[in-house]
Amino acid sequence: MTDREARHAQLAETYLPDELLERFRERAARYDRENAFFDEDFVELRDRGYLRLFVPEELGGPGLNLAEVSRLQQRLATAAPATALAVNMHLMCGGVVKAMFDRGDRSLAYVFEETMAGEVFAFGISEPANDWVLQGSNTVAVPQGDGGYLLSGVKIFTSLSPVWTRLIVHGLDSTGEPDLVYGFVDRDAAGITVSDDWDVIGMRASHSRATILKDVRMPPGRVARHVPPGRVPDLLTFAITSNFQLLIGSVYAGVARRALDLAAAGLKRRTSAKSGTTYAEVPESRARLADAYLDYLPVPAQLETYCRDFDDVVDHGAGWPLRLVSARINASAAARRAAETALICSGGSGFGNGDEVSRLFRDATAGLFHPPSVDAARPMYAAALLDD
Ligand SMILES: Cc1cc2nc3c(=O)[nH]c(=O)nc-3n(C[C@H](O)[C@H](O)[C@H](O)COP(=O)(O)OP(=O)(O)OC[C@H]3O[C@@H](n4cnc5c(N)ncnc54)[C@H](O)[C@@H]3O)c2cc1C
Repeated sequence: MTDREARHAQLAETYLPDELLERFRERAARYDRENAFFDEDFVELRDRGYLRLFVPEELGGPGLNLAEVSRLQQRLATAAPATALAVNMHLMCGGVVKAMFDRGDRSLAYVFEETMAGEVFAFGISEPANDWVLQGSNTVAVPQGDGGYLLSGVKIFTSLSPVWTRLIVHGLDSTGEPDLVYGFVDRDAAGITVSDDWDVIGMRASHSRATILKDVRMPPGRVARHVPPGRVPDLLTFAITSNFQLLIGSVYAGVARRALDLAAAGLKRRTSAKSGTTYAEVPESRARLADAYLDYLPVPAQLETYCRDFDDVVDHGAGWPLRLVSARINASAAARRAAETALICSGGSGFGNGDEVSRLFRDATAGLFHPPSVDAARPMYAAALLDD
């Protein structure tokens, strides 16, 4: 075992030991059935220090890097995909601040300090009909005389809605030259409403409900960045994109990994009257399982490579978005294919709503909706090759 693999094994044992994963897997079925938030998982993760993973040692945390957190998130998602997806949003905020530290910008150190003090960060970027995502906003930011803003708009799919205490948001100030303002709002600020409308196909325990902002104050000390709208390079948005794509990809890689194990178990369990054997000995079934494994294997390798490059501050320039988005799209495609394979290999029993295979299949579909979608991303890949 290499030193790096030994470190990953030790981190897995510290933060996500096997018995914890078993508990989480059992609860995931209940959370999904009852459309409940993952309260008990959240408490266990918090008490183990999981919410502090990115906090540097100098500020009292364990100082993990993106490659290490990616591995842990893959492992967590094999047991509880919705828990992993939602907790990702908090971790991502820490990952963003670490990325900025690594590149010489310590302006968001308060995020680490507040994480150590128990605050829970969430990600309020997605808005209805805003396919600019980070590069535009339909949320109105009205400047106040003191450098702060009042924000009004709708943020959709805010994971961790029952427990977050700090939300990273952006809004557009159009009072002069258009200016995108990024920063944090507090949960107890006046004007925040969390929708109770939440009944979705998969990742149900994430409780990614809409957040409605009505004149919500972002104090001057919480304004993190001013960026012109459109395709303007910036360290904060680069750090958000990198952490978002690679950590979301990690969750779907974990879903794929678990689905493959369930597919194999299904083939071993089911017998074929025609062949007089289990399906594990039927050539067509073996080929189907093998194809899903072939699809999956490059996914963790791609995530690991890009996470390490990011941790090492490698400058891929305009090649970064191509790499980051492809890692996340490949991971979510592998998760959907592996989950479909698991359904086929499990036979009709996997079709039951209470079956883990059925839940993974539904959870994997959420991967269709993280930005940019395949359709939104294709022009970037075509333009990179066609030089236009
Ligand atoms: C499981 C899951 C978790 C996610 N977690 C996060 C997260 O933590 N943070 C984040 O920023 N993004 C998150 N996303 C959002 C995701 O990344 C996409 O941006 C999102 O799916 C938007 O897709 P769209 O552009 O197709 O939506 P659109 O088609 O533009 O919007 C459709 C959605 O918006 C809702 N909606 C529209 N108008 C209103 C309104 N006025 N009030 C309330 N709701 C309205 C609709 O009910 C519908 O759910 C998550 C997505 C999923 C599937």
